[in-house]
Amino acid sequence: MRMSELFAPTLREVPAEAEIASHKLLLRAGYMRKLAGGIYTYLPLAIRVLQKIEAIIREEMDRAGAQELLMPIVQPRELWEKTGRWDVYGEEMFRLQDRHKREFCLGPTHEELITSIVAQEIRSYRQLPVALYQIQNKYRDEIRPRFGLMRAREFIMKDAYSFHRNEESLDEYYRRMYEAYARVFARVGLSARPVEADSGAIGGNISHEFMALAPSGEAEIAYCTNCDYAANVERAEALPPPAGGGSEAQPLEAVDTPDKHTVEEVAAFLGVEPQQLIKTMLYLADGEPIAVLVRGDHEVNEVKVANLLGATNLTLADPDTIRRITGAPVGFAGPIGLKEEIPFYADHAVMAVERGVVGGNKKDTHLINLDPKRDLEPLGVKAADLRLVVEGDSCPRCREGKLQLARGIEVGQVFKLGTKYSEAIGAVYLDEEGKTQTMVMGCYGIGVSRTMAAAIEQNHDEFGICWPVAIAPYQVLIVPINWQDEESRAACEKLYAELEARGIEVLLDDRNERAGVKFKDADLIGIPLRVTIGPKTLAQNAVEIKVRKGGKMELVGIDEAAGWLENWLREAQT
Ligand code: ATP
Ligand code: MG
Repeated sequence: MRMSELFAPTLREVPAEAEIASHKLLLRAGYMRKLAGGIYTYLPLAIRVLQKIEAIIREEMDRAGAQELLMPIVQPRELWEKTGRWDVYGEEMFRLQDRHKREFCLGPTHEELITSIVAQEIRSYRQLPVALYQIQNKYRDEIRPRFGLMRAREFIMKDAYSFHRNEESLDEYYRRMYEAYARVFARVGLSARPVEADSGAIGGNISHEFMALAPSGEAEIAYCTNCDYAANVERAEALPPPAGGGSEAQPLEAVDTPDKHTVEEVAAFLGVEPQQLIKTMLYLADGEPIAVLVRGDHEVNEVKVANLLGATNLTLADPDTIRRITGAPVGFAGPIGLKEEIPFYADHAVMAVERGVVGGNKKDTHLINLDPKRDLEPLGVKAADLRLVVEGDSCPRCREGKLQLARGIEVGQVFKLGTKYSEAIGAVYLDEEGKTQTMVMGCYGIGVSRTMAAAIEQNHDEFGICWPVAIAPYQVLIVPINWQDEESRAACEKLYAELEARGIEVLLDDRNERAGVKFKDADLIGIPLRVTIGPKTLAQNAVEIKVRKGGKMELVGIDEAAGWLENWLREAQT
């Protein structure tokens, strides 16, 4: 491809809303353009990258025994009502009506649809297991679309679904997919690590996410420095602290804490440690008020709370509800003396606090000397693991190492779904004895467009993108110093033809631009190998090759150049 013909409009300025490298560079280097919030056009360079990622995914899915199909994006409401997700999906679902006022959605995911197909077509244990996948656009009306392709409203996903006779068969297939995922991300050139994950609204119980580690990642993961435990913080378990020293309980007492609001302010004022404070958070769980207690230096893990309650919707209570329940302004809630009886949950660490301090349900008032056993247990408090882990917590797996935190981009997730969808939709089969059994399911997603963005997050510098070879839009870029120079032009054309003949994807910068401009664009677009040809190199009968990542330069004889490039590319991919 000749640069003079390539449709890759580069930009000098990027919109201020582009905060992270991949978002900025995809716009600047002419890979994409925005249509509306979270909705983008992929330009020709991006399509080449996406197609390479997709080709790797297809190879690994096929190798894992999954078969490709393509389901509709537009899906009828009735199907989603069978599983209750028409309501559960809430505002994230794009909905539409046809001319007969029938309701549809744009598929955010395809469990319902694939399960109904399999339910109709598969009858016997002999047809199981079966695994099917597709690669297509997904639609989610994200509350905060941002970071370009990272959190888009229209994005490309590979979604796979597997159907099994029993858990054993699912377990085996899940492992296979897990391994296929590890291979996909390694081949794409990402450093991605699997972590234990919460299965969220999709259901099921066992799930792993593949996280591309990057400071810009929206997800936080906790990992052990001693063993291989790693989990999304939504999921990471906190061990209960060792039981307290049993210091003698003092009587509960109300004290004035004028104008002291934060944990630190109250602790300093009372001369206690922040760990002695207990925060009382009021939530609405599917509309019902509940209280969650965590230690002053901890934060509530809302995913754990929602899972414990089986709630689909957990939100912090609004100020009116807080005033009604506590009888006090916001900021003074405590477990003792509430105006309404509501369910109470306490994180394990709260139950080990000695001489605790809680809100007094009265402006500028706290209660001191709280003894959780004496004062909370009679209220019917339920203790559970309800907090976010913090750096330095003991590892819940090996119990010896300490947890560290890191940020990651969720590029893929695998789930054991169990029978949630097959039961709701009636995906059953006849076993050897002719008895009707419910199929057991797994599902497996990869964010294809997000993977492209994640690859940039992990592979860029101040000048632009440094594509991993396997997914670069072109492998080699030939840059003549002066396109008007006859001899240079002839040498470029010759190398260009030679590389094409070898099946190497090559770009030739045949524009009448200054060399500096072409070099800048070369760095920005991120082709792994740049070959510079000019009167100086030709005087030595050579070309200059620059490896984009790391910037290494080498002078190579003009007749050896094609072979050199081909070898380098082959080696880079093994
Ligand atoms: P997230 O937690 O980031 O919202 P999710 O867990 O809802 O993602 P899944 O339902 O597991 O996403 O979808 C499978 C994959 O699709 C994800 O692992 C991710 O790579 C990708 N993906 C999900 N939402 C988006 C989005 N809004 N934009 C781009 N890719 C996305
Ligand atoms: Mg996910």
